[in-house]
Amino acid sequence: MGTSKWLDKEVTVLPGVGANRRQLLAKLGLYTLRDVLYGFPRTYQDFTRVWSPDELREEGEYLVTGELVELTERPISGGRRLVQASLHMDGSYLRLTWFLVHRGRGYTYIYNRLKGAKRLWAYGHAKRALVEWEMNSPEFFLRQPKLGLTPVYPLVAGITNKMRISWAQFALEHLDELYECLPSHLTAKYGDRHTAIRDMHFPGSWAAQKKARTRLVFEEFFLFHLGLQSGVAQADGWPHKVDGPLVKRFLEGLPFRLTVGQAQSIADVRADMESTARMGRLIQGEVGSGKTVVAQYAAVKAVESGGQVAIMVPTEVLARQMADRFRDAFQHLGIEVDLLVGSLTKKNREEVLKRLQNGELQVVVGTHALITEGVEFKKLTLAIVDEQHRFGVEQRQALGASSGADMLVMSATPIPRSLALTMYGDLDVSTIRELPRGRKPVDTRLIHPSQRERVYTFVTSRVKQGEQAFVVFPLVEESDKLDLKAAVQEMERLKAGPLRGVRVGLVHGQMGKEKDEILQAFYRHELDVLVATTVIEVGMNIPRATVMVIENADRFGLAQLHQLRGRVGRGDKQGYCFLIADLKTDTVRARLNAIRNSNDGFLIAEEDLKLRGPGDLLGLRQSGQPMFLLGDIVADQELLIIAAEAAKALLGQDPELDEYPTLKEELNRQRPAV
Ligand code: ADP
Ligand code: MG
Repeated sequence: MGTSKWLDKEVTVLPGVGANRRQLLAKLGLYTLRDVLYGFPRTYQDFTRVWSPDELREEGEYLVTGELVELTERPISGGRRLVQASLHMDGSYLRLTWFLVHRGRGYTYIYNRLKGAKRLWAYGHAKRALVEWEMNSPEFFLRQPKLGLTPVYPLVAGITNKMRISWAQFALEHLDELYECLPSHLTAKYGDRHTAIRDMHFPGSWAAQKKARTRLVFEEFFLFHLGLQSGVAQADGWPHKVDGPLVKRFLEGLPFRLTVGQAQSIADVRADMESTARMGRLIQGEVGSGKTVVAQYAAVKAVESGGQVAIMVPTEVLARQMADRFRDAFQHLGIEVDLLVGSLTKKNREEVLKRLQNGELQVVVGTHALITEGVEFKKLTLAIVDEQHRFGVEQRQALGASSGADMLVMSATPIPRSLALTMYGDLDVSTIRELPRGRKPVDTRLIHPSQRERVYTFVTSRVKQGEQAFVVFPLVEESDKLDLKAAVQEMERLKAGPLRGVRVGLVHGQMGKEKDEILQAFYRHELDVLVATTVIEVGMNIPRATVMVIENADRFGLAQLHQLRGRVGRGDKQGYCFLIADLKTDTVRARLNAIRNSNDGFLIAEEDLKLRGPGDLLGLRQSGQPMFLLGDIVADQELLIIAAEAAKALLGQDPELDEYPTLKEELNRQRPAV
């Protein structure tokens, strides 16, 4: 076990692979025999049967056969030749077409082979022409090809599919060295590893291929979740006291009634905090769903139990806002709240650090500054992280790791369950689905660019009523100078024209400290309109803001648009969102209509995930690298959930995986790079 002789050897042990091809294989990500084993086909040629004309469809590829009844060739434009053949099959005809370079090797080869043929087998996409079917540039054979599924591998110039087939066969001869890693109750369900790998390369049928893929995707997801979950759930936390007078006073003093989702989340947090196990909980809820009160409840509970609380948010502006909100809510409770951010003066910072260390300061709100060196608590028992996807898993865990503080994570991005599982597989999830009663959904409208002036006239009228507005311009890349210039120019134009007399500020991603100052000014209502790139996406709570104007709305993802829309109408006034876009295509129209017609962030997020893929959704673009080799977190969502649960069950029963040495070894070998 573990000491494999062959699998970890370099690809140069493959027949016909020297220094040159080794470099080519590296381009395909193949370095060792193990990589070759796991270098699965991209698709298969389906030679499982020969199809008759009335079975053909326009999708998929088909193997057909017929009598060659006509063969023509003639020059066409661009120095090419058109070769056409007609197959007679069961009373109908199929036309085969090739466009070939005049006197090129392909031309000579194809034309000469066709010339002598009587019967032909062709393989390719079928298309309906006027009355007959046709295939463009099909593969063809003069004899019936071996029936079955032929793997088609990813290739680079210099590596042929034939080579890859023979190397896969070579690697499979050493398959015995690969041990089974899944426990027997799972192999009973999903099949064994050897069969799966063999059937992925050379499946006897589509059913066998499907089963093999399912087993390997399950394995991938299962290992990922074991890695994510191990070591978190079992950790000891602080057993907080049951709710006492302080918590009661906090809850009784709330100016509103809790929604069902809030009450449930608070109940979940209460149970977690009172238990001896370390809490790891995600509160997931739409913008404006009222997550803060859940965090405040947890904080009061921690303080009442004699603990300290740290709250980490992504930016200084948000930290200041959050500190204000906590101070307001805690004033009558006598709980001390202070701020720890990078811009504090040295003296100020030292003062805060001292009060954290001696326990005088009970609640601290801050940015990354909280996880920098020199920050020590007397007794940190609760760590809260807001808007988590701005932080990495490691940063999140760094906060409160040393003291084993209970962990509460709040995310305003409603993410589909599959993605929540991959991103936060180590956390339990509470969801607040509904918005507080009485909150009116934002009135969302699609506006053609030619109507834009009317939108700004409307903005001006709202500003006169003491309300505020956002105007958002998309920058594809924060570094895109051209786009930035366009945004600046547009702002100047707005200020001179439709927004004359209105106090307008501009923020963008390339600003430094100045940006925070402008955001603060907007927050304090010293500005009426904030023109921005997407930097305002996260967390700003401006109750007076009622209008959101989004220029070039078609350039945003749905989830992003929904997030932006959530920035307005948070007070008691009606919110408006104007999506300015030229509805050039049906897709654009369909997408923007989806936003206009729905206020359910979860639905929109599911839609977005389907349309754009997971990387884009969270702005995670991992240099185009999919998270998994085979698994697709959208298409294989169900399997992902099952795998997560299976991992949890196994860790619950054997936290150290002592009974599963091969599994443990596999896990250590391929720790996910989170
Ligand atoms: P989130 O952080 O989830 O985006 P907040 O916690 O900032 O949302 O809440 C948004 C606004 O709704 C705040 O002004 C808050 O006081 C208010 N709010 C929260 N819960 C309720 C409730 N149950 N009823 C009425 N208003 C509420
Ligand atoms: Mg919030």
